[in-house]
Amino acid sequence: REIATDMRTLKDQVERFARNKKTEIETLQVRENYRKEFLGNISHELKTPLFTVQGYIDTLIDGAHKDKVIRKKYLERAQKGVERLTYIVKDMDMITRLEVGDMRLEKDDFDIVKLMKQVFDQFEMKAARKNISLVFDMNYNNKIMVHADKERIQQVVSNLIVNSVKYGKQNGTTEVAIEDLINNKVIVRVTDNGEGIKKEFIPRLFERFFRVDRTGSRREGGSGLGLAIVKHIVEAHGERIYVDSEIGIGSEFSFTLEKVSSSIEDIDVVVE
Ligand code: ADP
Repeated sequence: REIATDMRTLKDQVERFARNKKTEIETLQVRENYRKEFLGNISHELKTPLFTVQGYIDTLIDGAHKDKVIRKKYLERAQKGVERLTYIVKDMDMITRLEVGDMRLEKDDFDIVKLMKQVFDQFEMKAARKNISLVFDMNYNNKIMVHADKERIQQVVSNLIVNSVKYGKQNGTTEVAIEDLINNKVIVRVTDNGEGIKKEFIPRLFERFFRVDRTGSRREGGSGLGLAIVKHIVEAHGERIYVDSEIGIGSEFSFTLEKVSSSIEDIDVVVE
């Protein structure tokens, strides 16, 4: 009987080992597919601007450089292409580091109102080109202290505001608001009255390289990685990101942050 029990235990162990190995192999296969797909996307994304730059340089060498006006125009276009390549590579670097978990958050206490204001100022020119008004739905002098990685949150806010301007309509509005939630959280909202997003695309928005309209996104200088980066950063903070959008009405992207409890609330007042 002992031999039979031993045999059963051994069989169980072998089966468990086989099951573990199978899962390990499946995980490796998923990772390998992911890697292949990512590499495929990368080369595809880089090819378009590279060909553009190459095209202008070739034309200049072939004689276009002799005309002063054309020379300037083509050089400027080539420069734009290089700029585009630079931020695609930067976004790719960022998403790779976020996805392999190679980016440690450096959390600090900072004023989110001030940070939003800085980002707004940065995009004023871009918004002005489409005559989009940037509306801050609260007093700039309010101070809301949050606990998060300031640089990363700045990137989140920038990506959301850039999108609201890129996909916002001419003469439209981008509105930013920060509201208190229960449990010491705040929610940051970036709302536009632009083209909106079809319901069926909403679950895919945060995928790498997903775009509703490929040509539109490229024309606006998108890398297709902005929202994937946003989601990673927000979730790395243990927070959540939400989207609410309707075609022809506009979109609202919002995310939560941890609030620093104010010093007054923190003090236990003892009444004698
Ligand atoms: P992209 O570089 O293409 O802007 P993102 O990851 O930032 O990449 O966004 C993915 C896609 O989501 C965009 O291509 C666009 O189709 C859609 N999208 C993002 N933000 C908005 C918005 N505010 N309004 C409408 N569509 C948006």
